[in-house]
Amino acid sequence: MKHAIRRLHWTLGLAAAMGMGSAWAQSSGLPALGDGESISLSAERQLGDRIARELYRDPDFLEDPVLDEYIQQLWAPLVKAAASRGELSSELQERFAWRILLGRDRSVNAFALPGGYLGVHLGLIAVVGSHDELASVLAHELSHVTQRHIARGMSDQAKMTPWVIGSMILGVLAASKSPQGAQALIVGGQAAAVQSQLSYSRDMEREADRVGYGILVDAGYDPKGFVGMFAKLQQAAGLNDSGAFPYLRSHPLTSERLADMQARQQLNTSAPGTAADMAQAMLSARARVLSQNNPDALKAWIQEAEQPTTRSMPAQRAGALYAATLAHLQMRNMAAAERTLQALGPLVAAADHVPTSEASRTSALAAKRWLRLLRAEVAFKQERFDEVLQTVIPVQNGAALQRPELMAVAQALARMPSHPLQQDITGQLRQWVQAAPHDAPAWDALSRLLSKQGQALASLRAEGEAQIARLDWSGGIDRLRAAQDLARTGRLRPGEHIEASIVDARLRYAQDNWLALQKQR
Ligand SMILES: [Zn+2]
Repeated sequence: MKHAIRRLHWTLGLAAAMGMGSAWAQSSGLPALGDGESISLSAERQLGDRIARELYRDPDFLEDPVLDEYIQQLWAPLVKAAASRGELSSELQERFAWRILLGRDRSVNAFALPGGYLGVHLGLIAVVGSHDELASVLAHELSHVTQRHIARGMSDQAKMTPWVIGSMILGVLAASKSPQGAQALIVGGQAAAVQSQLSYSRDMEREADRVGYGILVDAGYDPKGFVGMFAKLQQAAGLNDSGAFPYLRSHPLTSERLADMQARQQLNTSAPGTAADMAQAMLSARARVLSQNNPDALKAWIQEAEQPTTRSMPAQRAGALYAATLAHLQMRNMAAAERTLQALGPLVAAADHVPTSEASRTSALAAKRWLRLLRAEVAFKQERFDEVLQTVIPVQNGAALQRPELMAVAQALARMPSHPLQQDITGQLRQWVQAAPHDAPAWDALSRLLSKQGQALASLRAEGEAQIARLDWSGGIDRLRAAQDLARTGRLRPGEHIEASIVDARLRYAQDNWLALQKQR
């Protein structure tokens, strides 16, 4: 499929398709959506898939096992709470994607897309002071989806086809980093006008605040997160208008919204104050470094860790050392990375000795885990693969690994000669993708391990599944065809007949989807 947009960017307040100029609709010459009615769930999902497919290909799209797990674990309780509060019908839950895509972008931003996709910028993760703050933004965006604000807005544009709307959203997504590129995309240089139309109404914002707040509380997060985030955004609004906080543009902080929030907050005074959170500081540091990996930015993270002033607060200091280690790794300064990692160790260990609440105990455990995974990363970069396994796999054998650990081990095994753990980890990956079939990186990892074990057919299929998971139908068809050819020409091993018939079925599935996509145009 050839597409006009070569490269898109992640910087946009929010990408709900609201209120397009009618000239677009008239010039499109394509069949229109039902007049005056909100678009159907499946039409919205199709539209979301089309946008998400472009985002998956974007060089700024990030797959990072640590941050992916973090955001997923924040997100899942929110979706669950929305469902049990009756904000999310089982039909909507089933038909929409509910996937979060991370973007390597330092601006503070999150946006809901049609069809239940959510875009989150690393810049947002980098500035939050607690996971409650991040959850509050996710809850707000989730509410835009559950209240079907996107569909409601699109119904006002009855003459627009989803294809045109999708192009508009993709165009605006491309806009703010590269204004010239955006003008080429949006005819007549109307980028600003279009972008201002791509926003929710004030009523929708208030509804998303109200519904989001309820979801946040029900999901077990500290409602102070909402207020903390508001305060942060408000402060930033006073400080700069450089575009680093595009979330503000799409979600203006009217005094009305702030008053509503503060009133809600007073009803929930029982929430405990958030202690300085070392684990959060480490994750935010990770997001900071991964959002900007040019040499100047990396040097700045390294310098920050050398500042004596940051030593006073352990969480901050841990964040700075984590960032510096990761920055050294990116610059391939291995000895320096080892040094900052060494300094981080005792700091994390000490967090455990402070007798405090359940929450801080959880945080201390998480900090230890992020340290272990960072240590494994440092070892991997130096090709000390055995050390990766020793660092990440717990002593008590047999338990299934969590995803970041599983991915780290699989990555190491793929680079090692045959290893006794190979089979066990392959089995764990198989189980994982069965439960999470949309996990493209896990399919990739599985494919590599299968290939090492000479299981070419299953490996090709896993490769195809990874493409399908990223909604790349033609890529998936290509791999599955190769698998089919192999099954036909090569001699199948015992048990591979089942795999071959799965390949046939999955190929048909990919082809159907590819055809459906062509018809949409
Ligand atoms: Zn909003």
